[in-house]
Amino acid sequence: MGTITSDETSRRQFLAAAGLTATTAWLTPRALFAQSDDVLVPGALKAAATAGVTVQALRRNVSVLLGAGGNIAVLAGPDGKLLVDSEIVSSRPNVSAALASINADPVKQLINTHWHFDHTGGNEWLHEVGASIVAHENTRKHLSKDTRVEGWKHTFPAAPASALPSTIFKDEHTLHANSTTLILKHYLPAHTDSDISVHFTEADIFHSGDTFWNRNYPFIDYSTGGSIDGTIRAAEANLAKVTDKMIVIPGHGAVGGKADLILFRDVLVGIRGKVAALKKQGKSLEEIVAAKPGVGTDEEWGKSFMTPSAFLALVYQGV
Ligand SMILES: [Zn+2]
Repeated sequence: MGTITSDETSRRQFLAAAGLTATTAWLTPRALFAQSDDVLVPGALKAAATAGVTVQALRRNVSVLLGAGGNIAVLAGPDGKLLVDSEIVSSRPNVSAALASINADPVKQLINTHWHFDHTGGNEWLHEVGASIVAHENTRKHLSKDTRVEGWKHTFPAAPASALPSTIFKDEHTLHANSTTLILKHYLPAHTDSDISVHFTEADIFHSGDTFWNRNYPFIDYSTGGSIDGTIRAAEANLAKVTDKMIVIPGHGAVGGKADLILFRDVLVGIRGKVAALKKQGKSLEEIVAAKPGVGTDEEWGKSFMTPSAFLALVYQGV
């Protein structure tokens, strides 16, 4: 199974290197913004260099790699490996070791669920070892030029040509590899404007990209087309698609299923409703954070990538 270290260890390493601790969750927005310089992306790059990557076998010939960045799905077989997402660039040694623990076959194909650095960071090295890259057209667009993400206070330089998807599509794209049909579908703007889902149809495994964070508050990238309402719309789209036996790989968090998608939708809708009502009453973001609209989930959902107040700021922005 190639287990290197636990998920929990990765998360702690991520938080430590990003300079975040559990106490960050209870800072006021003003304090949070005061310290929210360009620290998250550099911290994530540093953390991913040492974070463990865990291999979890799912069904048929599909596994998932769980590490510091976005979850990677791996489809193995005689055509070589097919990957969904490529993690943070600095996780290369640990991702390589995890892939080698599955088998010695090369990676031949890579699909990006969206353009973010923690899902496309490995594009360049995976292309160099033989993978061709498929993604939505907006993934190539954002990777092709300098792109600012205001929510992370970070500007990503244009990626080198070898890291860019060579096959792009608009709405839907079908691939065949290793006796598997993969259906790639674009979402209406949600977490970004480049989000796609990947359905391994025979195994009935669904990679949602960052339209679903399992028991974690999601980041929402308003700079490249994301919004809270788009994120909720995508959560509804995932629920319309999911079956009782479907295995769902989230962008971040543990592998889940239908009940987890329902919970995610309900939490987002609940918090959005409370924030919108308070904002309509004229409450400031600081007052809304103090009212703790996510009191039931803050402790569990706000301890990893997104603090409760950082998530509330993203919801507030969109209502
Ligand atoms: Zn993302």
